[in-house]
Amino acid sequence: MDGFSTQLKWTCIFLLYGSLAGDSNVAVKPCNGVSGTCQNENTQCKGSYLQQFDDKCPDNERFCTNIHQIQSTKECDTKGLPIVKRDSWGARTSLKTLNDLDSDLSFFVIHHADGYSCSDQKTCLQRMKEVQKDHQSKRKEKGKSYFGVPISFSGFDDIGYQYVIGGDGTVFEGRGWKYQGAHSPGYNTKSIGVCLLGNFTATLPSNDAATSLKNLHVCLQSINVLSPNNSVYGHRDIRQTECPGTEFYKTLKTQFAPFWHSIEPEMWKG
Ligand SMILES: [Zn+2]
Repeated sequence: MDGFSTQLKWTCIFLLYGSLAGDSNVAVKPCNGVSGTCQNENTQCKGSYLQQFDDKCPDNERFCTNIHQIQSTKECDTKGLPIVKRDSWGARTSLKTLNDLDSDLSFFVIHHADGYSCSDQKTCLQRMKEVQKDHQSKRKEKGKSYFGVPISFSGFDDIGYQYVIGGDGTVFEGRGWKYQGAHSPGYNTKSIGVCLLGNFTATLPSNDAATSLKNLHVCLQSINVLSPNNSVYGHRDIRQTECPGTEFYKTLKTQFAPFWHSIEPEMWKG
């Protein structure tokens, strides 16, 4: 065992919220036992962080389970859309305090995540950790240079998106709607950024993922995160990028009518 971890085990003393298979009822089921470790909050958790046990741990350590214990943020449960809490996928703490994001936002920006696909919840949970690690790491960009000078990525304070959707349709809390993202420079103070895991240049997202994306857009309006007059963009409407993939992008106009480009993209103005 590593130096800062303390093995803790309890028998079941609480109820877990589970059943994130996409149905509208978030089932409450008793657990048989939970085991895990107290670990530094700057470390990604192998399973899930369980806040209800944090007081059992020393300061600056959190209780991390050995296997995932999924809980919903509950924000969109009434819309039939449980959202996996960031603690549940084992997110590291943000490297710095994130800036607050206003409510009643004007933009909903859609991305894809090239290189991070998944079609079952177990794999998608792992992908979330990988994307966060990638976004938080400083590095030289492979094979990219500007007049011979290697391009460096200075890293984000946290996963860049507010929400991420897996190929099985599971919605994951990234930064969540309370904090500004790092996904669309110039729009991060006025948008929600959502990323679908997978590359959609030549293929489309699964029906489950596409449905979750639409349901998330509806839910975020119902809780006043998005303005009822919000405009939906693909990332490529904001900057030169292939994101969110050509084939997927073609479908968005129909999927998000009448919100699609209801505010004309700045890039299009002559
Ligand atoms: Zn993007």
